Amino acid sequence: MTTVSRRKFLSRIGAGTALLSVPSITSLSSDFFQGEKKLNIALVGLGYYSEFKLATALQETKHCQLAGIVTGTAAKAEKWKKQYNLSEKNIYNYQTFDRIADNKAIDVVYVALPNSMHHEFVIRAAKAGKHVICEKPMAVSVKECQEMIDACNKAKVKLAIGYRLHSEPYTQEAMRVGQQQVFGKVKIVESSMGFKIGDPTQWRLKKSMAGGGAMMDVGVYAIQAARYSTGEEPLYVTAQEFKTDPVKFKEVDETIFWQLEFPSGAVANSQTTYASSMERLFISAENGWLELRPAFGYGPIKGRTSQGELNLPNVNHQAMQMDDFALCLKENRESPVNGEEGLKDLKVVEAIYKAIATGGKVKI
Ligand code: NDP
Repeated sequence: MTTVSRRKFLSRIGAGTALLSVPSITSLSSDFFQGEKKLNIALVGLGYYSEFKLATALQETKHCQLAGIVTGTAAKAEKWKKQYNLSEKNIYNYQTFDRIADNKAIDVVYVALPNSMHHEFVIRAAKAGKHVICEKPMAVSVKECQEMIDACNKAKVKLAIGYRLHSEPYTQEAMRVGQQQVFGKVKIVESSMGFKIGDPTQWRLKKSMAGGGAMMDVGVYAIQAARYSTGEEPLYVTAQEFKTDPVKFKEVDETIFWQLEFPSGAVANSQTTYASSMERLFISAENGWLELRPAFGYGPIKGRTSQGELNLPNVNHQAMQMDDFALCLKENRESPVNGEEGLKDLKVVEAIYKAIATGGKVKI
């Protein structure tokens, strides 16, 4: 195990979790800072991700727990209340949500709504004085991302994006290999993420709800990967769009290929699609390489380098991610996947769309 992943792993099993400074943030229940009390999370939007990934992960977390829900569906409220033994006073709908400001039993609001709703609900959560985790993509434009960051700063609450892979050991190893130049300077990154999308009526295929297609949904993983593999911010992008089903993908992109140029001279060649399944990260450096495949799904992630197979722990991504954020709050640290991180990806997304529209190279 690498130093980085070992440290993370140790912190997961309890070592290195000593209390550091106590935040000056008043919205957190004070109990959380006094020993073993867990951080109380309310999930907003009880769809696939909340039901099958976040709520289940919250049964495994060490530093946080499911304490509340915000849903527009009364039947879900009933079902979740029973299933997770939730207190009636911690259950909201989208109209009553702002009253969460008066609820000391909720520390963090986790926004898992369709992409176009992230902006509104993160800002409302911030105004209610709650720390926020917001699912990816952070929002549907750079402008929205900036407004969300500003609202959280103004309210003095912390914001994290649901980039679960930053808490995942294989991904951490890819970051280490790339950023610490373990095999010399990174020259080429290949990253791709896609899946075959089903139901043609779903919100992911509506521009007003999703902001874009495969690019917004899973292209962000490939952008993230290029950025964390090099540890750099890209300077230029070129991009190409392909559409095989103009009816299904009338409003949003189906397949996009793009190339990013980094200040060091490293180049990333990436793809995203709603047409078929793919997920891979390949980092080619001066003296060796690292490959993760599968690279971005829920796991198990698998990987190898030019020196052999990687054998790292397989973890529950979402449990690790939420526990990491809980520790950020406990230790009054900024999350490594804060709003700026989400905004940087949206900057690249906007530049990719511009490169497609203009057919030229776009400065990011
Ligand atoms: P779903 O469509 O399964 O769920 C979205 C939920 O949002 C709905 O069930 C509903 O919950 C609520 N909602 C409120 N208004 C609307 C509306 N107008 N249309 C549709 N739903 C509405 O989506 P997912 O759970 O798959 O995705 C939610 C978010 O999580 C997205 O931003 C997505 O990108 C992200 N995600 C992240 C993943 C990751 O690995 N990090 C994986 C999957 C998704 P209710 O009935 O409770 O009101």
